[in-house]
Amino acid sequence: MFRSAAEAGPHDILKMYNPKGNIINISPRLEPNSPDSCYKLEVVAADCNSEPLGAELAGALGFDLSSMEKRLQGLEKKILMEAGETPAVVYEMKKQVDSFREKLESVEHLSWLGLFKDLSEGTLKPSPFYHKRTLHKTREECEHVREKFLQMSSLEVSEEVRQYLKTPTFDNWQWEDAEIMVLLQVMYVDLDFTATFNIEPDVLHQFLFEIYRRYNNIPFHNFKHCFCVTQMMYGLIWLTDLRSKMDSIDLLIMLTSAICHDLDHTGYNNAYQINARTELALRYNDISPLENHHCAVAFEVLERTECNIFRNLSMDQFKRIREGIIKCILATDMTRHNEILNKFKSILPTFDFTSKEHRDVLMMILIKVSDISNEARPMEVAEPWLDCLLQEFFNQSDMEKLEGLPVTPFMDRDKVSKPSSQTGFIRFVLLPLFIELANLFPCLEQHIIDPVRKALDYYTEMEKALERETQNRAHSDVTGKSKEAAGSRRESQTNAGPEAQRPHAQ
Ligand SMILES: [Zn+2]
Repeated sequence: MFRSAAEAGPHDILKMYNPKGNIINISPRLEPNSPDSCYKLEVVAADCNSEPLGAELAGALGFDLSSMEKRLQGLEKKILMEAGETPAVVYEMKKQVDSFREKLESVEHLSWLGLFKDLSEGTLKPSPFYHKRTLHKTREECEHVREKFLQMSSLEVSEEVRQYLKTPTFDNWQWEDAEIMVLLQVMYVDLDFTATFNIEPDVLHQFLFEIYRRYNNIPFHNFKHCFCVTQMMYGLIWLTDLRSKMDSIDLLIMLTSAICHDLDHTGYNNAYQINARTELALRYNDISPLENHHCAVAFEVLERTECNIFRNLSMDQFKRIREGIIKCILATDMTRHNEILNKFKSILPTFDFTSKEHRDVLMMILIKVSDISNEARPMEVAEPWLDCLLQEFFNQSDMEKLEGLPVTPFMDRDKVSKPSSQTGFIRFVLLPLFIELANLFPCLEQHIIDPVRKALDYYTEMEKALERETQNRAHSDVTGKSKEAAGSRRESQTNAGPEAQRPHAQ
């Protein structure tokens, strides 16, 4: 269909080839050719100015311009004709879109959708920063903390702090992240791990920094939670004088498991992972997706020689440590709570520290106790943690509602109140677990059970007060409408009673 280059006109597009057949630029710098080495010209698009030929070209390329033109005209006419009478269903949809947008704009943790508007500027908010930070820590954030940590890491920590660190009354809120890393270092030194296992200071620093880096900016399962769990484990080791009953490797497993046990948590629990069919649920076939992930991330960190605090141990020692850490971290999945607690109860009457099987179960119980031990801490330490936990729960249930997934009842902001979320959990999960551990170590009664009982009283009182307030409001309301609203609120609080215990909580 193309004409020869000799007939080319002013509106044709040409391509030129050298004797080898390569396409070349037509420019003033073109070298002259000779009869033995001729350039070859080819018309690739002829008469581009003329419409009929343009249509021909479009046809050659597979477009039917005239029918497309007709369709376009038809659509234009239709729009013009119908402009005056938009169907009611379109108005209804528009209204729904508007109200949905309004909802999105008022839910701040969905700000990643780019729709949230901060309307409360100037007012004090309970969580001033989480929604303004990315999930993963930024490089700047990390570098800043690393520098601070390295500066402080060689300073001597006072004896007073070293002793305080061994008690469950320790207040994490007084310490910033770089200082927390120094405190974790103190634990490895004071349990003689650095000396016994020849852990070089640089390697411990790198390891602790990588751990810090891989805890995310979320309300609850963050680096401070990792510290609290580790610190409780550390306290339990001292309080029960475990150093005289178990060998250093077991203690090293327990402390390191606590440090690693929630690595890279994204703030959504296993139920969500499974229902939303996330990458983690797919990878681990719905079997403890989070705990498997935390553990895998831990060993990913330890794969790097410069972070591997176990690098001077023998293959056999490493094998035993790896097995132990996997066992401990996987035991933090709360869906296994009854299974592990029952196992512990069954071995308690004949508990024997020389039995590996018995020690393994005890290690799982100790990390479980540490993981959910916030209520064993002084009220001023524990209560802010509950706010953080509820914030993370509510974020999840909001997301579940938005995505049309089953809503986890103990996370629903419409059904759970602060005291109702705690009373059931303490009564049915915390106390039965703590009491069994205190059966083996009676000295723990005063350290972890008494404070938990106090917390139960505190939240039971708060629950009653809330109930009274709701009832009073219902009585004083005169209009039928407001009576109805108060009634449904009371009902929802009752529903969140004993069932409000959190099977997948922490
Ligand atoms: Zn945890």
